[in-house]
Amino acid sequence: MKTIGLIGGMTPESTILYYRFLNEMAANTYGSKHSCKILVHSVDFGEISKLQTEGRWDLLDDLMANAASGLEKAGATCILICANTMHLTVDAIKAVVAIPVIHIAEATSEVINASQLSKVALLGTKYTMEKTFYTDVLASKGIQTLIPEADDRQIIHDIIYNELAFGVISKESKVKYLNIIEQLINNGAEGVILGCTEIPMLISQEDVSVPVFDTTKIHAKKGFKFISQ
Ligand code: GLU
Repeated sequence: MKTIGLIGGMTPESTILYYRFLNEMAANTYGSKHSCKILVHSVDFGEISKLQTEGRWDLLDDLMANAASGLEKAGATCILICANTMHLTVDAIKAVVAIPVIHIAEATSEVINASQLSKVALLGTKYTMEKTFYTDVLASKGIQTLIPEADDRQIIHDIIYNELAFGVISKESKVKYLNIIEQLINNGAEGVILGCTEIPMLISQEDVSVPVFDTTKIHAKKGFKFISQ
């Protein structure tokens, strides 16, 4: 097994999920005594979200590139950015490291293509739903995305930053998400991308009538495949 490098803390709640999945996969693959070789660079999400709000993607590029470069120097053989949104900085990271950066939207596209769906809903932060860095990757793999209406995007975004980021799981918020998903299915979505690494804490496959794509799990799986081959 090689060593995986995680840029985490975005938010800590979802980094815990990555850490758990990776260790579970190592135990399932190599035997129950085994765990995963992981380096985590965990950032201060307070600093990150402030810079996001201020639109300082230049500073976020530098911060993320430094984190990735440190992981490479420490012995990581690949990098996972443990958030969908922060893939806005993937080019800045790729510019400074020689090791592969495993892209969460590319990993997700592969799974969607394997399930032969072509039109899926995307739930995530406003950055992920409204900017094109994420939907462009999906489109380049032949996948069309449906995003919620503006009011619904705000609801999804606020629940991520005000509740899920702190590990708060509320029934009312779940109902709000499910109503939005229902509407997207009525509008033709054949599947739903949980395009924020905290959303799987609130929504799972059993809640939804069409296939659900859990980006946290999909991403961790692709990272594990890389380090275990
Ligand atoms: N973890 C989140 C994501 O997957 C949101 C937090 C962030 O802004 O990075 O997009």
